[in-house]
Amino acid sequence: MSDILDLTCELIRRASVTPDDAGCQALLGERLARCGFTIENLRFGDVDNLWATHGSSGPVLVLLGHTDVVPSGPEDRWSSPPFEPTIREGHLHGRGAADMKSGVAAMTLALESFVTQNPDHAGTVALLVTSDEEGASIDGVKRVVEEFRRRGQRVDWCLVGEPSSQAVLGDLIRVGRRGSLHGHLTVRGIQGHVAYPDQALNPIHATAAALAELVSIRWDDGNAGFPPTSFQISNIHSGTGANNIIPGQLEVAFNFRYGTASTAEGLRGRLESVLLRHGLDFEMRWDLSGEPFLTAAGALRKAVNETIEAQFGITPVASTAGGTSDGRFIAPLGAEVVEFGPVNATIHKIDECVNLADLERLPALYLGVMTRLWAGIKRA
Ligand SMILES: [Zn+2]
Repeated sequence: MSDILDLTCELIRRASVTPDDAGCQALLGERLARCGFTIENLRFGDVDNLWATHGSSGPVLVLLGHTDVVPSGPEDRWSSPPFEPTIREGHLHGRGAADMKSGVAAMTLALESFVTQNPDHAGTVALLVTSDEEGASIDGVKRVVEEFRRRGQRVDWCLVGEPSSQAVLGDLIRVGRRGSLHGHLTVRGIQGHVAYPDQALNPIHATAAALAELVSIRWDDGNAGFPPTSFQISNIHSGTGANNIIPGQLEVAFNFRYGTASTAEGLRGRLESVLLRHGLDFEMRWDLSGEPFLTAAGALRKAVNETIEAQFGITPVASTAGGTSDGRFIAPLGAEVVEFGPVNATIHKIDECVNLADLERLPALYLGVMTRLWAGIKRA
């Protein structure tokens, strides 16, 4: 059995459903410690975070990932038990096989190879893994970054081994993510009898016109890095259940997915001005779950592109679509962030799997990126 297959299977066997790391990080930490890495366990709340570094100066490359997985769902619907790694039809099956225990294993092996080949390398190479990426994401990388700021820890480059590929390994890398802004609107009316509307104020009627306007607004046209901002209403609630009462209150929840053509502050202001113009008596609660970021085409992106081209002969698409990842917390440190990993077709699903041939190629890909980055440092 190859090293990468062996380590990925070992990780899948540990049923690390968020936020339980189930011993995955100890396994990775022991391996890296044997190769001379300095190991730190940054535990915040229920969440384990592993910070393993080799070197002490800049530039700093962080390989970023998570050991936690989403729940399996009904186990009897799996073709083989979710936490028993099983090889079938050229694929390794198990929860986390693609998202993202294969990526974490490959990044770990690539780091081991890199420091063995370059024991006196310039700068710092590091692994950061959390057990809270799939959950609340509060005590994971977000808290680690607060700690980095306190310590003055710089990060120049961050390679995230999340499953970015779509049809074949290497066809797509993520170079940014849209921001996500949640809003919760409460509109106050006056409850009353439906037969006496002049003695009540119907918040459904008052809000309907405002919502119709909000869903028809083109918030921006997008830009080279991002599609136009999207506004989606996810929940509306009002009414007492009785059909002879005008309700006293209405609640609406919605979400903006936005790029760098807009700002959270700008979107908030424009939305609230529509509500005011419609004369609503309202309260807004906002929750900004992530700012958008777009990585410039710098040294890391170049190294990733060149490695994929050299090893596969294809040029990856640079995308900003999809959901958020922990890269959003690292980007504000001024780091260039690129996400690149296996095919994501089965992530979070029943019978999650990774192609065996892809798995075998992953460590060399991450090692190739590091080798190219460091060749650039030598030239500089
Ligand atoms: Zn993931």
